[in-house]
Amino acid sequence: MVLHSSRKQFLKWSVIEMLDMEIIDIHCHFDHGAVGESAKRNELHKADLAFLKKERERLGIKKTFMSSFSSVCSTERIYEENEYLFEKMQKATWLYQWVVLDPREKRLFSQVESLLKKDKIVGIKIHPELHKYEILDYADEIFAFANEHKTTVLMHPPATIVKTAAVADKYPDMNLIIAHLGVMEHIDAIANAKHGNVYTDTSGQASYKNNILEYAVEKVGSEKIFFGTDTYSCAFQVGRILLAGISKKDKENILRNNAIKFFIK
Ligand SMILES: [Zn+2]
Repeated sequence: MVLHSSRKQFLKWSVIEMLDMEIIDIHCHFDHGAVGESAKRNELHKADLAFLKKERERLGIKKTFMSSFSSVCSTERIYEENEYLFEKMQKATWLYQWVVLDPREKRLFSQVESLLKKDKIVGIKIHPELHKYEILDYADEIFAFANEHKTTVLMHPPATIVKTAAVADKYPDMNLIIAHLGVMEHIDAIANAKHGNVYTDTSGQASYKNNILEYAVEKVGSEKIFFGTDTYSCAFQVGRILLAGISKKDKENILRNNAIKFFIK
């Protein structure tokens, strides 16, 4: 098969050159046989660290920001899981950590506080849906805490995306990443942010939507979008960005530059 030369050029530019660059996955999870992990996970959706590492090496994802599945799927062992990942991370240059916070468990605030002083801790992860609390009851407390520590909150999107993001207008020294770019509300929340401190990531499955990334970049700019996988196939996730109908600069921002600017010292 002979490829048309401009198309050849496009593929070379999109795939080959881009795969040479360092990619950063800011949203991922892993299993390690702990309480609360999904029983549904099996060989078809492997999520142990060894497998995830191998896939990442293959695709040029050099750094991955993690929290364990156990700590986001259940509230039983959040403190211990935060400690577990912190230990693991010491020997793994590719791992960075979100410290998981359930605002109802008060000792987690002091754990977060002390971990935030350490290297490779990127911020606070919250999951109101699986931890089963109403985010609007706790958003002020969590965001004020993050604001005091000038850090970032990675939030699983609640039903009330726009209302919750509006709470961040009171806290200009924190950043809020609303995970799983997937609905119009993600884009509205970023556009409405008074201090420009609201962002999103491409993790999850919603990037299969045929114009989602392109529309989001057009409306709010690629500087507001981070690359993430949420453990779903990084081949699919990386491919979606590399082959998107956006500029090379936008791809670089999403796959790497935004994360470096924000998190890598
Ligand atoms: Zn997640």
